[in-house]
Amino acid sequence: MKRLKLLTSVFMMFVFAGINAQETEQKEPRQQGHTNQNKFRQMYQEMATPNQYRTASGAPGPAYYQNEADYKMDIVLDDKNSVLTGEETITYHNNSPQDLEYLWVQLDQNIRKKDAPQKDGDGLAPVATAAGFANKYLETPFDGGFDIKEVSANGSDLKYTINQTMMRVDLPKPLKAGETYTFDIKWSYNVNNHVTNRARSGYEFFPEDGNKAYVIAQFFPRMAVYNDVEGWQNYQFWGNGEFALPFGDYEVNITVPADHIMEATGELQNRKEVYSKEMMKRYEQAKKSYDKPVMIVTQEEAEKAEKNFSEKTKTWTYKADMVRDFAFSTSRKFILDMMAVDVMGKDVMAVSVYPKEGNPLWEEWSTKAVAATLESYSEHTFQYPYHKAVSVHAKNQGMEYPMICWNYGRPDENGNYSDRTKFGMISVIIHEVGHNFFPMIVNSDERQWGWMDEGINTFVQYVAEQEFGKKHPEAIAPESNYPSRRGAPSKIVPYMKGNQDYISPIMSNPEQVYQLGNNAYGKPATALNILRETVMGRELFDYAFATYSKRWMFKHPTPEDFFRTMEDASGVDLDWFWRGWFYTTDNVDIGIKDVQKYYVTDNPTEAGREMLKRYGTTPEETKALYVVSEDDEAFSEEMKGKSLMENSETLQAYVMDNFSEEERKNLQAPKYFYQVTFEKPGGLVMPIIVELTYEDGTSEKVTYPVQIWRKNDSNVSKVIPSNKEITKITLDPDLETADVDVNNNSWPKNENKSEFDEYKDSAQD
Ligand SMILES: [Zn+2]
Repeated sequence: MKRLKLLTSVFMMFVFAGINAQETEQKEPRQQGHTNQNKFRQMYQEMATPNQYRTASGAPGPAYYQNEADYKMDIVLDDKNSVLTGEETITYHNNSPQDLEYLWVQLDQNIRKKDAPQKDGDGLAPVATAAGFANKYLETPFDGGFDIKEVSANGSDLKYTINQTMMRVDLPKPLKAGETYTFDIKWSYNVNNHVTNRARSGYEFFPEDGNKAYVIAQFFPRMAVYNDVEGWQNYQFWGNGEFALPFGDYEVNITVPADHIMEATGELQNRKEVYSKEMMKRYEQAKKSYDKPVMIVTQEEAEKAEKNFSEKTKTWTYKADMVRDFAFSTSRKFILDMMAVDVMGKDVMAVSVYPKEGNPLWEEWSTKAVAATLESYSEHTFQYPYHKAVSVHAKNQGMEYPMICWNYGRPDENGNYSDRTKFGMISVIIHEVGHNFFPMIVNSDERQWGWMDEGINTFVQYVAEQEFGKKHPEAIAPESNYPSRRGAPSKIVPYMKGNQDYISPIMSNPEQVYQLGNNAYGKPATALNILRETVMGRELFDYAFATYSKRWMFKHPTPEDFFRTMEDASGVDLDWFWRGWFYTTDNVDIGIKDVQKYYVTDNPTEAGREMLKRYGTTPEETKALYVVSEDDEAFSEEMKGKSLMENSETLQAYVMDNFSEEERKNLQAPKYFYQVTFEKPGGLVMPIIVELTYEDGTSEKVTYPVQIWRKNDSNVSKVIPSNKEITKITLDPDLETADVDVNNNSWPKNENKSEFDEYKDSAQD
């Protein structure tokens, strides 16, 4: 205890000095008042007030509710004419405490109506591609909007109004709280070519064999979300902001040419009718194959089917419970393979569907990537609740739906592919299969908050990719980690130090941001990675993150629910982190401004005397030591290399009077006192991570918590007592904070890079 007292009293002197310098600096005689802009203030102004629906802990409250929509659908695909026709019965459960006068239904395909409003400005560049030019100025716009043929209930027409991509269905009488309403919609639309007419849904046409491969989604009128946060979420579909959808149960019959192979959301109900005997046999084998995929439809069989063009049809029947959407993929070109995965003690089927154009890449990696994703994500969130996860290969696609997703990654005509194609494909599969967790199960509002599914998912994707590299070392280069494109702090630096005119805060609607990929994917993923590795540590972070995932599994969380849960379950105050990283476009830049070496002496200095006077005390009363730097007049060369007590008899006397012999043996005797001043040109507050290198070549890492910035946002000093001479100080030595300028990160200063070197470095990225 006494040892502490000694150090405390020595440090008090430094602290006096520190406060003196920082708090009583000459101030202009102004002064205007100001509001509390402290970066550590709590987020009462930014966050919604907690209530009975959503609590201050970030968990659903006692009055939390969510509405549900169940669908029964009959869908027919006219392959020749690329027309999709459907009849659906929606049963809507109003679990809210309010009566509803009308229902809102989403008509996403109306974004492809001929006369859909053009929401973006454009211009002509000095050079254009023929395809782009033809597509934009020569072709008649494709007419892909919904033809709504009927909206009715019990055989009587319902009044409805279509406002672009939203349809209001007026109810004959309000739907009472707690009641259910059933109505029918009949519709059709022209399916677009998703490759030439870029879209998440449509077909790819293969001119060599005359076939189409369909990936069909957002294809039926879907209920909008009604909840305690938005009322009806009927913000129009503009293309970037994805979907807000309620959970429900689906029963879907899909009729396609008899020689098609299909995969879809849900459990196939009539497998024996649509599979051949051989396929059934292989399917049974796949259920027991945990280490490699079993081919259900081989490439040879698929190539044979390509030439059929059957005139007959088959109907595939699917059932899915507690899903927020339904999608399917169908073609006679499809190869199909499956493998069982043991996900925390539960069997799930990992499935891949691809045309021969995807091989040999797809038969090698797709299903293995699906399996690894289910394992990794389940570890970090909750056990995957569905019975399967399907990866479909579709050109240029990367898009997710419940249990099924579309993924890019295609070898060239000769079956050759680069590492970039291979890792691009594995990564997109991990990402899109990962979306089963966010937002298919943790059902956030994508229309409003792109980062809640994309950013959180890209973060877990990064973790899963690194784990994939460990599970499949044969997939990556020897002695290396999986080459993740996003997630590592250094990867977000170019974006965060970019032109502020083209950066939006993460907390922005996806339709209004610049650089959606960096804004909604890269930056939040990196922020969460830094939170896990540098700010909170894995143990606290992982527990809180899993708590959020479990609390909001099969529910609709908001950003506040995430922010609050992460603090509530970890005991770490993170308001400063959310505000800085999610609500502003500030970046991280911490530097070493100055390093001074200090000694103590009994010889009074002018500054020391003055300070004692100011505090109304005497050297005798305080048993004063005087602190001097090498620039001070009171400094002499003899002080160097001597211990504290060798330089100060006052201190010696104090120790003799106050410590027993036993205690004196344990006293430390630092010879050097460094005062390091850190500056912070970047707006974000972050912990200061320092690597100290000593004269004997050893080094040590010290981390000062972020709170060090709470009373001074621009610079802060820290005293480092040391037995050994410090030869080098490096900030953020492992580049874990996304510091945008490392030129100010070392002492003595590294030679500034020339502009040419910087150019060379950036050209290698
Ligand atoms: Zn995504």
